Amino acid sequence: PVVTRFAPSPTGFLHIGGGRTALFNWLYAKKTGGKMLLRIEDTDRERSTDAAIDAIIDGLKWLGIEWDGDTVYQFARAGRHREVAEQLLAEGKAYYCYASAEELQQMRETARAEGKSKLYNGLWRDRDPSDPRPDVKPTIRLKAPLTGETVIEDQVQGRVVWQNENLDDLVLLRGDGNPTYMLAVVVDDHDMGVTHVIRGDDHLINAARQKQIYDALGWTVPSMSHIPLIHGPDGSKLSKRHGALGVEAYRALGYVPAALRNYLVRLGWSHGDQEIFSTQEMIDAFDLSGIGRSAARFDFAKLESLNGHYIRHTDDQSLVTMFEDVLNYVPGGLDLKPKLNDTTRAQLLRAMPGLKERAKTLIELIDGANFIFADRPLAMEPKAQAALTPETRVLIGKLRTALEAVTDWTAANAEAATRAFAEEAGIKLGGVAQPLRVALTGKTTSPGIFDVLAVLGRQECLDRLADQAS
Ligand code: GLU
Repeated sequence: PVVTRFAPSPTGFLHIGGGRTALFNWLYAKKTGGKMLLRIEDTDRERSTDAAIDAIIDGLKWLGIEWDGDTVYQFARAGRHREVAEQLLAEGKAYYCYASAEELQQMRETARAEGKSKLYNGLWRDRDPSDPRPDVKPTIRLKAPLTGETVIEDQVQGRVVWQNENLDDLVLLRGDGNPTYMLAVVVDDHDMGVTHVIRGDDHLINAARQKQIYDALGWTVPSMSHIPLIHGPDGSKLSKRHGALGVEAYRALGYVPAALRNYLVRLGWSHGDQEIFSTQEMIDAFDLSGIGRSAARFDFAKLESLNGHYIRHTDDQSLVTMFEDVLNYVPGGLDLKPKLNDTTRAQLLRAMPGLKERAKTLIELIDGANFIFADRPLAMEPKAQAALTPETRVLIGKLRTALEAVTDWTAANAEAATRAFAEEAGIKLGGVAQPLRVALTGKTTSPGIFDVLAVLGRQECLDRLADQAS
């Protein structure tokens, strides 16, 4: 059975590219009835933080990506990594290297001057091990093949070939006894039974080095898929401005997980020209052969429109729940939170059909819904304030009287009363609707004004109108 894994280094948030890597691993596992494992690569003790681990786990959960079994922490397995390094040493496939820092520096300079990519000159490779230097703590290096080729048959990149004469004897265990990243990844993937490695193509060169370790150990190399990184809309490296944000930032920007998932799956993978995928459709359609070789370009506008699509197709009650959820993450959300009660929730639910037609993000949904939570007397936006001339205030007072006569308070009845009032006063409907909007919402734009009337209810409307009338 297929076993994939997501192996983030907890040195920052779950980056959007990491989210996509996790998604691909998850989809492939689901598609094949296999498992996806999570391994936190926390061997870099200086840069790994608990906050980053939490952010990664939260981000994955929010995206709806579930992994199987317990989370594996790489650092906790250092003893096992050492054991494997020592095994290679005992088998003569690795050796102690006593080169000092100065010597290594010297070797690198010589190699660079000669234009060689191999930086270590093999000084200790064939030395008698009874020749130690008491002043240097040795590293353990792999006795990598000197001739021939190292080949990866990558599912995305195709056949990738390296000449062994260009590859160094890489360090497996540092002088302080800590394993290197390269060794740790191989040992962990092997011990965890990983059959498929799917990761960013910035790791392609590592694949060659890892292959040499697998070969030395006589272990099977997993199937490899190195996916092109995500680039900015202009083809350059993805920058913050272009969307290189943590997954939690997308949450705070009001994206819904299903939309982000749908957006991410299409970044670098395609299935004909289908754009919208339900989770099950994604799982059914996903395959490694659909991953392209060229870098995907991040397109905020596309993500937004996809998000709008998902919002429009989400049922009203679920949107109320998402609305409440996002308040924890957005600026000002916590001020709004205490105002959620049974009454405002019910109003929100009633307003949702009108609100969701207009909102591309949950933030826009909140903006649109703000009128529900506004305290009386309403704070007016500058444009709204400017619209409240003395004549307008008189008009609002008369309109209030007309609306007060409506006893069966529905959008249709309020509309009928407003139209009748406008006709009688000889004003176009817009000339009445706009002052009404300003008085009820404090803004010059809002959802359909008669929906606003219905959502707020009769008494609240009459009170808000009284606040502005003269
Ligand atoms: N920890 C590595 C990273 O976050 C990934 C290693 C791998 O997938 O093999 O870039």
